[in-house]
Amino acid sequence: MMDNSPLFIALPFFILAFMLGVFFGRKKNEKTPSSSSSYTLSSDYFKGLNYLLNEQTDKAINVFVGMLEVGEETVDTHISLGNLYRQRGEVEQAIKIHQNVIAKPSLSLAKRNDALYELARDFMNAGLLDRAENLFQELIQKQSHVASALKYLLSIFQQEHDWQNAILTAKKLESASNKSYTLQVSHFYCELALISKKNGNLKEALKLVKRALGTDKQSVRASIIEGGIQRDLKNCKAATRAYRRVEQQDSLMISEILEPLLLCYKELKNYKEIKSYLNHVLHKYEGVTSVLLYAQQLQHSIDDKAAALFIVESLRKKPSIRGLSSLIDMSLDFTKGTAHDNLVILQEITNKLLEDKPIYHCTQCGFNSKSMYWHCPGCKSWSSIKPIQGIEGE
Ligand SMILES: [Zn+2]
Repeated sequence: MMDNSPLFIALPFFILAFMLGVFFGRKKNEKTPSSSSSYTLSSDYFKGLNYLLNEQTDKAINVFVGMLEVGEETVDTHISLGNLYRQRGEVEQAIKIHQNVIAKPSLSLAKRNDALYELARDFMNAGLLDRAENLFQELIQKQSHVASALKYLLSIFQQEHDWQNAILTAKKLESASNKSYTLQVSHFYCELALISKKNGNLKEALKLVKRALGTDKQSVRASIIEGGIQRDLKNCKAATRAYRRVEQQDSLMISEILEPLLLCYKELKNYKEIKSYLNHVLHKYEGVTSVLLYAQQLQHSIDDKAAALFIVESLRKKPSIRGLSSLIDMSLDFTKGTAHDNLVILQEITNKLLEDKPIYHCTQCGFNSKSMYWHCPGCKSWSSIKPIQGIEGE
């Protein structure tokens, strides 16, 4: 079946331009004694033309590439052809063409570096990250394509979870590109902190999380990790300070810290602060997580009916599927007969609705998920995923 992508359609024209380049390029280079001398077309040329006429584009390109010597005047054509192959997903072919360019000893340093850069990108596309990394490092050493090479290196180190090298590269990239990478560097410190926490090295984890905050004081993730480490260290007061920082950093993320924060206050037996902070968050943001946590407090301190009444009032002000689902769950216990049966049906419907609904949304690419990601799996942005707001979300 023919591929009708614009690239495929453009390819025969590219080949035609390529052939003309061969033809005129050779003519120009020939040191012929007189202008009347004619150019002899080789059998390979007709073989290539035949492939082209029979729509065997790939074979045609192979023949024409074989015919064309890599030299200063044709090197750009070879490099572009390799790039076209890469864009079409034919990375092996791209690698072959770019390696063929690099193998020519007569090439100028600048052109050789251009080909090296494209070959590194081929390796990256092929998933050969080690080989891509070596070539990008070589280019940086040679002071060629520095900003782009650093950008690709940063992407490689993130894919390999090599956070130390990611930090070093992002810092170099800041000076090479005049762009801030503090958000990314802060996340890399958070990643290192999580590794130390997992290995039981809580002091080192705390040091790294402080570095994350030193790099980006708005880092919600660093505050959440710090809260977790302080809880592990049985330092609940410090944990509450870390969690409460999130409200100032990004109020959209407040639902992420409410539960652990309330647990800390419970451990400190500071019930007054639980009520006071929940009241504050409820009145300021009206999020469903705070409504449900407040209802839970009412359930324990008064009874189910008081909690259900509170949810009804909140739902009137701000409708939400999660709120409705909790209200149904609570109401099941104090209804009987047909009313109870109807509530069971409603419960099934709301559960089904919640099952299919994402909770988080990427503000950059629209990626939806039921779990929180700090690094968007869709667009690879950091800190772009937030809890969904409105009737279906927070
Ligand atoms: Zn995204």
